[in-house]
Amino acid sequence: MTPEQYAFPLENYLDRSSFGRLKAFAAERTTPHLVMDLDLVEKRYRELIALLPMAKVYYAVKANPMDEIVTLLNDLGSRFDVASCPELDQLLRLGVSPDRVSYGNTIKKARDVKYFYDRGVRLFVSDSQEDLKNIATFAPGARVYFRIITEGTGSDWPLSRKFGAHAEVIFLLIKQAKELGLEPYGLSFHVGSQQRDIGQWDDALARCTYLFEAAEFSGINLKMINLGGGFPAHYLEATQPLEIYANEIKRFLADNFSDEAPEIYIEPGRSLTADAGVLVAEVVLVTKKARNSLYRWVFLDVGMFSGLIETMGEAIKYPIFFDKEGPAEEIILAGPTCDSMDILYEDYKYKMPSTVVAGDRVYFFSAGAYTQSYSSVYFNGFPPLAAYVLPRAGR
Ligand SMILES: *Cc1c(COP(=O)(O)O)cnc(C)c1O
Repeated sequence: MTPEQYAFPLENYLDRSSFGRLKAFAAERTTPHLVMDLDLVEKRYRELIALLPMAKVYYAVKANPMDEIVTLLNDLGSRFDVASCPELDQLLRLGVSPDRVSYGNTIKKARDVKYFYDRGVRLFVSDSQEDLKNIATFAPGARVYFRIITEGTGSDWPLSRKFGAHAEVIFLLIKQAKELGLEPYGLSFHVGSQQRDIGQWDDALARCTYLFEAAEFSGINLKMINLGGGFPAHYLEATQPLEIYANEIKRFLADNFSDEAPEIYIEPGRSLTADAGVLVAEVVLVTKKARNSLYRWVFLDVGMFSGLIETMGEAIKYPIFFDKEGPAEEIILAGPTCDSMDILYEDYKYKMPSTVVAGDRVYFFSAGAYTQSYSSVYFNGFPPLAAYVLPRAGR
């Protein structure tokens, strides 16, 4: 019996000619590094606004804050979800107008509220009384939206528990905001990142409906719902296409808000940038830990501390391509640092052609989100993940 040959469905992630272009660009640069294709970011943005034309897009900058991406999205008309003063500084430096910025972090210092207000930002999120009072003091008259808590069930990278508050707290905040001279504007939630259960938006919207009605009963007309992020990127685990997400969300909105549709905001991060990035790495060592081990360990020059933190708990499974032929072998994948946490995939067995040796290159697809921005600073002396933008064809 001939052993199974290594096969990777490259075309599912990148067509042959794009891969050739990427490979040539990457060949001139040391690994590890991330290569972003702005054409793909633009494509994802255009797909999204075509599918949800009623939504205002607030790009979650943390997913990939490269200047080129912020500038591109700004030129395309995106708004921005910002979490810190340095993030705001970056956007203002790039010419983003402060009236297109939402301060979307529920955890902020009083002086950070003032910093944003002084620079022209008038849209803030809140989920607590302390924070709301700070906003009233340092951003008088601002628009505030309130984050409701979700469980993150069904998502690969949950953002649950830490953010948002339960309906009874939110209801009090809405009333208090008005008393404090703020404009209670709407509600927000985040169903969890890489959310594969579309029904989670329905559950969250049902809670919004209830709060809209309760507020109206108290004489406050909320106007906006911020559906957060959670839209999918293309990793190994299957998701529905974005079109199905959009259609379902439009249906949930129509079901829940029959007479007057609220203004809709969305805060995509991953779904705009992940698929547009390829992380290029190199094999450092291939080894067996015992003579009769079932699996060889494959150590790469990229790991959990240089951009792949979302492999924690093997939560995000990147499509990984070894550009060689040979019999397929199941392996354990790990990073280069002297921390035993720096193992990428041990339970889930990736396949590799057994011909791979130290020095061979490895390509992680769909790696454009939450990689460079998450990489550590010189842990073990390894620099933060380098990132480049492919020259754009025809520009
Ligand atoms: C991180 C974050 C997002 C982006 O979520 P994705 O799942 O990457 O699209 C959106 N909104 C808020 C408040 C966030 O913290």
